[in-house]
Amino acid sequence: LGGSISLAVEQMSNATIIDDNVMNQCLNEISRALLQSDVNFKLVRDMETNIKKIVNLHDLSGGHNKRRIIQKAIFTELCRILDPGKPSFTPKKGQASVIMFVGLQGSGKTTTCAKYAYYHQMKGWKPALVSSRAGAFDQLKQIATKAKIPFYGSYTESDLVRVAFEGVKRFKKENCDLIIVDTGGHHNQEASLFEEMHQVAEATKPDLVIFVMDSSIGQAAFDQVQAFKQSVSVGAVIITKMDGHAKGVGALSAVAATKSPVIFIGIGEDKDEFEVFDVKPFVGRRLLGMDYLSGFVDKIHEVVPMDQQPEVLQKPLQRNLTLRIVYEQFQKLLKRGSIGQVFSMLPRSCVELVPEGLEKDIEAAIESYVTMMGAMTNEELDNSDPKLITESQIERIALASGRPVTEVMGMLQHYKRLTEVKSKMKGEMSSLSQNVNAQ
Ligand code: GDP
Ligand code: MG
Repeated sequence: LGGSISLAVEQMSNATIIDDNVMNQCLNEISRALLQSDVNFKLVRDMETNIKKIVNLHDLSGGHNKRRIIQKAIFTELCRILDPGKPSFTPKKGQASVIMFVGLQGSGKTTTCAKYAYYHQMKGWKPALVSSRAGAFDQLKQIATKAKIPFYGSYTESDLVRVAFEGVKRFKKENCDLIIVDTGGHHNQEASLFEEMHQVAEATKPDLVIFVMDSSIGQAAFDQVQAFKQSVSVGAVIITKMDGHAKGVGALSAVAATKSPVIFIGIGEDKDEFEVFDVKPFVGRRLLGMDYLSGFVDKIHEVVPMDQQPEVLQKPLQRNLTLRIVYEQFQKLLKRGSIGQVFSMLPRSCVELVPEGLEKDIEAAIESYVTMMGAMTNEELDNSDPKLITESQIERIALASGRPVTEVMGMLQHYKRLTEVKSKMKGEMSSLSQNVNAQ
């Protein structure tokens, strides 16, 4: 879906003249992509109408301006559709919280419990897993053992309410700050399932009940969340299998319509294939394919004269571009608050496409790179061939920096592309900024 939407926007951006025809064609393609993802028909129709209302082409002059206004309107409308508009309970590190996971069988509860635990463990929490189902204990035990997360459960005890109660009690005593309770689910929304959930909730007194849902159900997500909400006080939703399923965005928008906050999405079977759900980056990165970091550097080059650009962006590279050089440059950029300074140099029209948050987002991206690079050994930093960094090294860097393996791999890929551009530009005056720009 992200592909077809960003393609439609890109094609529109490439058109020499932006007229009603070009805009309608772009909107048609986006609408078709959303409908194919099972987004509610009325939502899609409203989105089209709203965009057309915001963008009155005849009142606008200049091609650049029109493009930006249309893109911004698309961004805003997609955010509006997917915004659950309500924050959820957030556990605090160091304070014991009980989090209970509910959902239908096969939705991904057990996997998601483990991902949620792992995600927090990487950030320095002390999570623990409790299985309140004899049948599912083995699966939880295996995942927990692999990720080195303490677990509790029973193969034989039939009183699952008691098992849940004992598990929570034990981990509170052991000063765990995130006690995650996995529950069983049946194939459909039976009364006995809801009764069971209710009893486990009574026994464990969860601070937050998370409803786990498979994204492949699309619009039907609306009814499913409502049904569960009637029986337990669902405080947040996690949508799984956003990787392989065409109906993912349909499920997201349906959940948003119930005003239930979506807090994470699952994007694969592995323990780190898990993302915080935040509407703006989701729309920007996944649906519109914007790369904030390169886009930002791009804009600096577009509008700020070379000699006025921050020193760190124009420093010529005389040596091989090692990870250490990128690391040092990024550290400087963060230290001096240069990002804010650069932003203040940009004309408003350049930053308005992604309204608030852009600056923070870029800063966060650079910060995360710096954290990961900080976890690398001297040898790794001075290495100018990223291919030589092995899988086990990547895992170590991820563990030490508390970032997912996929993110470390992404950083190395970015760096690899930088070095490729660098070698192409051999001999010419090159700068880090031009390299970063080419990401
Ligand atoms: P439960 O019955 O609700 O506990 O579901 P499980 O945790 O056992 O998951 C059911 C299946 O879905 C397993 O094969 C998981 O590996 C798979 N699964 C869970 N989350 C995801 C996800 O985000 N993406 C993909 N592709 N598969 C997932
Ligand atoms: Mg399970």
